[in-house]
Amino acid sequence: MGEAGWSPTKPCENASAVACRVLAVTGLVEHILGHVSARTGPDGLLVRGRGPAERGLAFTVVDDVRQVSLDGTGTVPSGWKTPSELPIHTEIMRSRPEVTAVVHAHPPAVVAASVADLPWLPLTGAYDIPAARLAHDGIPVWPRSALIRRRDLAEEMTATLGDRPVVVLRGHGLVAVGTGDPAHAVAEAVTRAVAVDSLARTMLAVTATGAPLRPVPDEDIDELPDLGPAFTVTSMWRHLTTRAEHEGPGTPLRA
Ligand SMILES: [Zn+2]
Repeated sequence: MGEAGWSPTKPCENASAVACRVLAVTGLVEHILGHVSARTGPDGLLVRGRGPAERGLAFTVVDDVRQVSLDGTGTVPSGWKTPSELPIHTEIMRSRPEVTAVVHAHPPAVVAASVADLPWLPLTGAYDIPAARLAHDGIPVWPRSALIRRRDLAEEMTATLGDRPVVVLRGHGLVAVGTGDPAHAVAEAVTRAVAVDSLARTMLAVTATGAPLRPVPDEDIDELPDLGPAFTVTSMWRHLTTRAEHEGPGTPLRA
């Protein structure tokens, strides 16, 4: 796994915990549902679970993030539990060795657009280049709304994800993945989730006017540059984490 470019000895509980706060402050998760994971090695991951004093994603502390193996076992404190949908994370990491972070969220706009069976088209161009590029290259939709708490369901969902960075779960939410150093991968997965949420909001707004959903022409897509990770991930992550710090509850990240 060394060639993947990340260090299995450098855990990133902080990034995973902060990511949960970011998802809450941006409205991509509500209340106590949603989770983020970061790979620690070929067979291990850090995942945001729930302790006996669970207060919801907005109030995530570093201790909510614990290391388990891909089969869900590990030495964890009594009362702390992995998410019931842990198979989302473990199955993707099993089938995609390059994936080092997974975000699962229930953004209301994504859920509404998926239930309406709206097509995930690049409706806008320079307005949101990451969203346009994601949609142009294809956002798959897993048609089932089941709670993904079994491996067979996670395998189905992972097959629909394929080699793409995001998958929409109809009537449920989305899954986004990141690659490379796990702390960067968490940021990358979150920014991808934010892009899909942005697109969903646009889809719903356009549909509400009664106008048809039409993709921007390929010639305009061709004029959208790849802005690179320093802009689309690092700068965006700095913005999102600063927002979480200023707009979030202000409770300490370390209990
Ligand atoms: Zn879920």
